[in-house]
Amino acid sequence: MASLSLKNIYKIYPNGFNAVKDFNLEIEDKEFIIFVGPSGCGKSTTLRMIAGLEEISKGELYIDGKLMNDVEPKDRDIAMVFQSYALYPHMSIYDNMAFGLKLRKTPKDEIDRRVKEAARILDIEHLLDRKPKLLSGGQRQRVAMGRAIVREPKVFLMDEPLSNLDAKLRVQMRIEISKLHQRLQTTIIYVTHDQTEAMTLGTRIVVLKDGVIQQVDSPQNLYDRPGNLFVAGFIGSPQMNFIDATLTKEGNNTYLVFGANKITVVPEKAEKVKDYIGKEVTFGVRPENIYAAATYPKANPNNTVHSTVRVFEMLGAEVFVYVTVEGVDVTVREAPGTVVKPGDDVDICFDVDKIHIFDKETQVTIC
Ligand code: ATP
Repeated sequence: MASLSLKNIYKIYPNGFNAVKDFNLEIEDKEFIIFVGPSGCGKSTTLRMIAGLEEISKGELYIDGKLMNDVEPKDRDIAMVFQSYALYPHMSIYDNMAFGLKLRKTPKDEIDRRVKEAARILDIEHLLDRKPKLLSGGQRQRVAMGRAIVREPKVFLMDEPLSNLDAKLRVQMRIEISKLHQRLQTTIIYVTHDQTEAMTLGTRIVVLKDGVIQQVDSPQNLYDRPGNLFVAGFIGSPQMNFIDATLTKEGNNTYLVFGANKITVVPEKAEKVKDYIGKEVTFGVRPENIYAAATYPKANPNNTVHSTVRVFEMLGAEVFVYVTVEGVDVTVREAPGTVVKPGDDVDICFDVDKIHIFDKETQVTIC
């Protein structure tokens, strides 16, 4: 069992910089929690405070109900995997994995059992006699994981463990880590700035910006119902398109008006934006919710806009078309087979059911 409770946690570095502000989070046993956000948002600082490598300036950290603020890192029953997985070059893989346990004076046969079990889980049994220099990057990363697993900790903390691997290996290891979580059934807190890693691994994701939690939610909810413009832009790739527009009402219909364009606001959303009529808002639509008018059965004047193609990218399974709409850059994701070229004028349609509307000033989601 390992549940964590972070209450009103702050980190103020000695130079006065406030890196983490009023961080509140309840983590349940066996959760796979992701901290994600742009560089410098406070992900590592928070993780290091949980590990005890960084002092908590204000607030309380509980693990299984016990206050941990002043508990030594080694007594927190936590294992951390870093992005640099420095292994001892002169030791075999077996000894690298056993090292921490030896320091803790764990009995020899117990060490042997745990190292072999971890090696089996990670599929590195055949590498135990080798020295690190004979291993590939992915294999070394597994050994680093192995060193954490043998400790049988209550909580795993992982700080961008895959960032030193090439793209292909990252995908492989991502799947491995997911399987590992299922097998070990322990709580994992994982830091990344990669939103694909966050979306694929996390049971819940904590999105951070400037040391402040923006939203804590499941991957699906973050994608479907981002709480503000920052989260909407951060989750999803390529990112959501944003356009400023004025909300207007004509009879019973509400529209987003920008330039010569008038886009329908569907009735459920119209109800929620009624206080914004006559005001400027920002609306967002994801590249995968935009279609070429020529092939979109639901095309009509109130979901269609003119655009000019800037760049066309063919990626095999999908096509990205970068266009300009009323001077705003918009990305469209199309099915393969679409062929356009820079300079082409094309009509594109927004799926109006999938439009997100944000308060332009506060950037909070209205609907
Ligand atoms: P990255 O993805 O780049 O690793 P991060 O989200 O993990 O970023 P942190 O390493 O937690 O960010 O740093 C958060 C902020 O705190 C940054 O602005 C960083 O410059 C600052 N910071 C980190 N360590 C210190 C320190 N010892 N003293 C002062 N400021 C620090």
